[in-house]
Amino acid sequence: MTTDYFVKQSANPLADSKESQSAAANETRLYSEAKDSPTRFASQSGFSLDSQFDASEQLNFAPDFDLEKIAQGVRMILEGVGEDPLREGLLDTPARVARMYRELLYGVGCDPADEVTCTFNEETDDIVIVKDIQFATICEHHMVPFIGTASVAYIPKGGRITGLSKIARVVELAARRLQLQERMTAQIADAMMSALKPHGVMVILRAEHLCMSIRGVKKPGSTTVTSANRGVLKEDATRRQEISQLL
Ligand SMILES: [Zn+2]
Repeated sequence: MTTDYFVKQSANPLADSKESQSAAANETRLYSEAKDSPTRFASQSGFSLDSQFDASEQLNFAPDFDLEKIAQGVRMILEGVGEDPLREGLLDTPARVARMYRELLYGVGCDPADEVTCTFNEETDDIVIVKDIQFATICEHHMVPFIGTASVAYIPKGGRITGLSKIARVVELAARRLQLQERMTAQIADAMMSALKPHGVMVILRAEHLCMSIRGVKKPGSTTVTSANRGVLKEDATRRQEISQLL
C-alpha cells in the first residue's frame, strides 16, 4: 500500500512542471515503468523504498496516520525547493519531520471532551477559572505554528466539576491538530459544555501566528484574541464582565 502511494506520487511532480505537454507523455511512461518495477524506478529517482520506520512506529496511532507518506512528501518538498534530499544533512530529515508531525498532530480525529474523564461532586456554582494555559498548534492555512495561551472559565452546575489539569488537557488535545484560532476556541468551549454540562463556559485564546510574523505582512509581536461564550455566559453580560476582570 505504501509502495503504491510512493509510485503514484513519484510520477506526479512532472504533471505541474512548465514542460507539462511533453511531460504528460513522459509521466505516463514513468508511471507504467514504475508500476512494472517500483524498486528500479525508486533507485533511479533517488528515493529509497526502504521505510525509515520500523513496524512498531507505524502502529498505535490514528489509522490514517502514515509516517512513510509524510516522509515522502517532505522529500518532495526538499526536491521542490531545489535541495538534494540525499545530501548528508538532509538524509534523516523526512523521517524526523514525519515523527514531529506525529507528535504535533496526534489529536486528529479525537474529541477534546474525552479528556474530562473524572468529575467530582461539589455543590457550587461559583466561577472556576484556569488562566494562561500555554499551547502551540499548527495553522491549517500555512502549516506553521501559532503559539499562545488559553484561559478557560466555567460556572459548574449540578455539582459537576473536574480536575484543573483536565482543563489543560482539553486545550492540549484541541491544539494537537491543524487549527484555526477561532475554531480551536469554539472546540474548547464545546468540549467543556458537553463534558460537564455547566451553566456556562467562557474561553479566551491569545496567540501569535507565525504565518503573520515570518511571512505575509511580517508583523511579529501582534496578538490575535478570540473568545467563545456558551450557556448563560452568552446572554449574561454582567457575569461575563465579572469573569473578564479575572482573566
Ligand atoms: Zn496561517
